[in-house]
Formats: sequence, structure tokens, C-alpha cells
Amino acid sequence: MTSLRVGGLSVAGATGRITGGAGDAATAAVGTGGVGADAGDGAGGALGVATGAAGVTTVAVVTRAPDNGGADEHAAPRNTAHSAVHVVRRVRAEVNVEAIEGDSAMTRGEPLPALGRTLYVVATPIGNLRDITLRALDILGQVDVIAAEDTRVTGVLIAHHGIRAQLLSLNEHNERRRATEIVKLLDAGKRVALVTDAGTPAISDPGAALVRAVGDAGFAVVPVPGPSAVIAALSAAGLDASPWLFFGFLPATAAARRAALEPLAALPYALVFYEAPHRIKAALAALAATLGAAREIVIARELTKRFETIHRCLLGDASAWIEADPDRQRGEFVLIVGAPAAAAAEAEDAHDATLALLLAELPLARAVKLAVALTRAPKNRLYERALALKQTLKPPPR
Ligand code: SAM
Repeated sequence: MTSLRVGGLSVAGATGRITGGAGDAATAAVGTGGVGADAGDGAGGALGVATGAAGVTTVAVVTRAPDNGGADEHAAPRNTAHSAVHVVRRVRAEVNVEAIEGDSAMTRGEPLPALGRTLYVVATPIGNLRDITLRALDILGQVDVIAAEDTRVTGVLIAHHGIRAQLLSLNEHNERRRATEIVKLLDAGKRVALVTDAGTPAISDPGAALVRAVGDAGFAVVPVPGPSAVIAALSAAGLDASPWLFFGFLPATAAARRAALEPLAALPYALVFYEAPHRIKAALAALAATLGAAREIVIARELTKRFETIHRCLLGDASAWIEADPDRQRGEFVLIVGAPAAAAAEAEDAHDATLALLLAELPLARAVKLAVALTRAPKNRLYERALALKQTLKPPPR
């Protein structure tokens, strides 16, 4: 498995915020398969017609990622993105999407064909081979070529599911060259899938450069979502992790690790890291030293595998826990550090103050909407707080 690190930060949470530097490319590539990363570009509104298994003709819109998730014909490439034709296509597409969504049996129940001239970004298991979606199997079983980080690893996966496909290696060393080759395959009408050794491509894994090249060339990129270690760990952590910041792998040297962690210490976010077994002890020591012993940490190890362990403790106790048993230092890790308590409380106070001001002047829904825009806090949380505040702000009964 590669140890390629996502370069930079990406912040994601229930608010849907994404900020940061170089990390944005990878995050957006995953969220939208690169189509939305170039929001408003040539891929947007691309319209295709496909005949489903039931013989029903359906319309697919790349930006909306319908259940068959693709298009066999593409809108004009980037440079014509804002042409009148493109706009008309987009409008027609939106109308058709509504029609499709109204008939869930047509798009949600039936396996639909993988489409030519389309790159499918397919998530694969992070340990348990059965953690693969029906749609991923449909797509992998139909594409002409599967670009795989390690063809041996993917060979085992597809053999397990009875799939035979042409495999092409695509890793951090050859991604740009392969991207050119894959664009040529798409130009020839081929269907291509991208997978990595485990989880979702482009999440601390190769894929973002390929997705970008394919999108830039005007071809459809369709995410086929599924497992990712970061999401699995968050879902079972039991921490209040909204918002949370995904960092990926920390740097390898002590000085670089500290330099990377220091700017994160004061952020009012839960922090999520990937870590390899040979660096787990050093990483835990560095986290405690920089972020403070009092924060909570969840150590999620070997998720979905035989020795799966999810341990929650204070950062100050984490090193002792991991050193108590050499087995605890084995395998693959996701580390989630809870938000600093004081910062979280301060942020809540500030949100309450904003809401109170707005509620004094506006109806509840409008106040919440503006508060979300001002604070970028999750809407449902602000809504709950607004309801509670409204009670306290009510004029006393006469
Ligand atoms: N693309 C993958 C994803 O979506 O999660 C991540 C690939 S990254 C190269 C590999 C790292 O992910 C590992 O070093 C570990 O930190 C984390 N990871 C992958 N599988 C895991 C598992 N089963 N349990 C815990 N962490 C895992």
C-alpha cells in the first residue's frame, strides 16, 4: 500500500465546508469525482442517454451523478462550457433528473450499464472483502480496463468476486503518464475504472491527478462511493466530530511532524490522521506533546479486519496504552483527536450570541439561515440552539 500523503489540508464537516491549500484537489476529486472540482466547467451538465437493464431509456447527467452515474456522450469540453448550447443542455438535464428521481424503481433498483468514455472512481474494501457495494461490482464487472494501484491486490479482489478484467497499474510514480494513456482509452470509447489497494481513491491515495486529467479532457468522471478508513473510524468513534479536519499522514520526521501539528492545536475541530504501524508510537507522543494531554483520542486499528480495535482514551494515556501490548502497535491506524473542549465551548457561546442577536430581529428560520452563513456551523445544531434560545428569549406571559 502506498504511503502517498495528501499534500495540504482539507477541512470537512457537517457544514460541508472545505477549505485549505493543496488538499482541496484531493478532497474535491473524491467528493465529486473531479467533476465538481471544476465546478461549472465542460463536464458540468453533460448529458447522455443509456438503456437500462429493463430496456428503459434513461438520461444521465454527470454533475448530478444519477444511480447509473455517467454519460456515454459528453458535453463539449471546457472551452465551450459557457456556450448557449451548454446552458440549454444543463436546463434540460435538470428537468430530466427530476423525472428520473421521481421514478426510483428505474434508477435505484436496476443495475445500469457502465458507460463508454467514462472514468469510474470506485471505492473498494479496507479489509473485509465483502465490504464492496453492488454498484462497484456492477461497474468493475463491465469496464474494459481497471486502473489499479497494485494489480496483484486488485487481482485478488476481483477474482474473489468472479470478475475478469484487464488491469493497468496506476500508482504514485506513473500516475501522470498513465493519465495520458487513459485519456486516449476514453477517447476511443472505452470504459475505465480506477481503484486503489483499499478504500476510496484519492483519499491519501493516487487518483486526483488522473481525475483532473480526465475531467480536463472533457470526459465524465463518476464516483462509485464506498469504504474509506476515515469515515469508518469516525462513524464508530463516539466523538463529537463536527466539524472535523482530515489531515492524512503526518510527516515522517519528528521536527516536520511538530511543525505540521502546531498550527492545528488551537483549531476547534476534531482532527483525523492516518498512521502506519512503524510510526504509531512516535505519532501518539507527538500528538500528546503538541495538542495537549487532556484531549480525547480514538485509536481505530485494523478496521473491518480480524483484530479490529477501537480504543478511546485521553491523549496523555495513549502512549502507555499502545506500549502495554506489542499487538496494539500492529496493523493500520486511524487516529481521531477530539476537539479541544474550551475551544468547542467558546465556539458554542459565539454561535449562541449570534443567534440571539438575529432572533431578536428575525423569524427563527431566517435567523438560523443567516447564522449558518455567518458562523458556518452545522444547520441542524444551530436550529436546535435557536429553538432553545427562543424559549429563553420569550417575553414573560402577561
Ligand atoms: N484510500 C484509503 C481510504 O479511503 O481510507 C486510504 C489509503 S492510505 C494509503 C492507507 C492508510 O489508511 C493506512 O495507513 C491507515 O492509516 C488507513 N487505513 C486503511 N485501511 C485501514 C483499516 N482497515 N483500519 C484502519 N486504518 C486503515
